[in-house]
Amino acid sequence: MTKLRLAIVGAGPAGIYAADILLKAEKNFDVSIDLFEQLPAPYGLVRYGVAPDHPRIKGIITALRDVLDSGQIRLFGNVTYGRDITLEDLKKHYNAVIFSTGAIRDADLDIPGIDLGGSYGAADFVSWFDGHPDVARTWPLEAKEIAVIGNGNVALDIARMLVKHADDLLPTEIPANVYEGLASSPVTDVHVFGRRGPMQVKFTPLELRELGELRDVDMIVHDEDFDYDEGARNAIASNKQVMVIDRVFTQWRARETGAASRRLHLHFFSKPVEVVGEDGQVAGFRFERTTPDGEGGVVGTGDIREIPIQAIYRAVGYFGSPLDGIPFDDKRGVIPNREGQVIDDNDEQLHGIYATGWIKRGPVGLIGHTKSDAMETIKHVMNDQANWWTPAEPDEASVPELLASRGVEFTNIDGWHNLDAHELSLGEPEGRIRIKVVERDEMVRVSNAK
Ligand SMILES: Cc1cc2nc3c(=O)[nH]c(=O)nc-3n(C[C@H](O)[C@H](O)[C@H](O)COP(=O)(O)OP(=O)(O)OC[C@H]3O[C@@H](n4cnc5c(N)ncnc54)[C@H](O)[C@@H]3O)c2cc1C
Repeated sequence: MTKLRLAIVGAGPAGIYAADILLKAEKNFDVSIDLFEQLPAPYGLVRYGVAPDHPRIKGIITALRDVLDSGQIRLFGNVTYGRDITLEDLKKHYNAVIFSTGAIRDADLDIPGIDLGGSYGAADFVSWFDGHPDVARTWPLEAKEIAVIGNGNVALDIARMLVKHADDLLPTEIPANVYEGLASSPVTDVHVFGRRGPMQVKFTPLELRELGELRDVDMIVHDEDFDYDEGARNAIASNKQVMVIDRVFTQWRARETGAASRRLHLHFFSKPVEVVGEDGQVAGFRFERTTPDGEGGVVGTGDIREIPIQAIYRAVGYFGSPLDGIPFDDKRGVIPNREGQVIDDNDEQLHGIYATGWIKRGPVGLIGHTKSDAMETIKHVMNDQANWWTPAEPDEASVPELLASRGVEFTNIDGWHNLDAHELSLGEPEGRIRIKVVERDEMVRVSNAK
């Protein structure tokens, strides 16, 4: 029987779901899948993006691990495509490759002052609090007043992590350095800014409601933002999610405030204008009030306002990174593709090369969405059988041999079990879910311990 030797690059949910869907699909060929991941541990943004105080979502790792444990997929962790393994290598050893490398960088926010000291990207902060091995161990948390720009779930994650008392994060898996950093933060006020109205936000009701439950944090919303126009009223009447969001805001507007030591302010209809600096450091945030334009968008009113802040975080979206030898759309930050089939500048399909997940369709959507995405891509991988590559060395042993010959210290699924058990054992005596190992070398050492 024909055998598909498939390489998948990126062991986030998109790559793992793609492998699972292919293995379970009805097909007239055998399959052997190798999954390459640049980090020593799999799961992508589920491990290094989802906030540590969302254990239910982090729990998706259990389902992803079951797929890796099926015995039909080999994981090669700590292997970076473009450095440890190249497109040429993949063509030599596989019939096809799927790239599921996601998005890890912050999208840009082009306003004056955005490069001042004290101005940060959400993705970097997320990587720090989620213990990503490739970012610095310390994070400057010296500001009392902080602005967060954006109205999606990531903006709310950032604001929550900044305003929450560190002790309330102790039961989670946060690494020790993150707890210490957050515990020393003098923050009193976090201001979240969105350019559109409260009924046009991108965050979900669950994430919003959670903010109102934070201990010793007052939620501050402003009456001027709740003078609904017809568009907002229609949205509340026709969309259940918007209706729930409206209900949450209504409750908060009726609440007494003033007793808490920290405040989380939500500002709507506020368009970023400038980050104001003093001696090269963030000192203020200038924004323009907007108003609905009657067509679902907003326009500036000319009413410019300013608040004092000492740090600013932009949470205006993630952005994919280009991969060696693979076309890249540098406007959208994705690999150009037709339903997952990678295409070149002339819209021609590049046979044998596929994409799925955030690197395929951009950094929007929840973990679940990567499943339907993977189904579409896998359908094409299966149907394109006539155009698969013909590898010169398809045998499975040749790949670990190649990596070893290059001195790559790769990890595997047993290694993840070792690391998982180790992290759980670090957490147990302290009554915590787990304590993450952060250093890359340490992750590899624990994973590969005999
Ligand atoms: C801060 C944040 C919080 C989120 N919270 C939630 C939530 O609560 N609930 C929810 O449903 N969704 C959440 N999401 C969305 C969810 O994380 C994404 O939908 C999902 O992770 C996208 O999956 P992916 O596999 O495409 O990308 P990723 O999860 O980014 O996985 C890509 C993988 O590819 C690897 N990789 C990249 N380049 C290379 C290379 N050159 N060589 C080898 N490997 C490489 C990366 O290391 C990574 O492991 C959140 C996202 C963010 C950013």
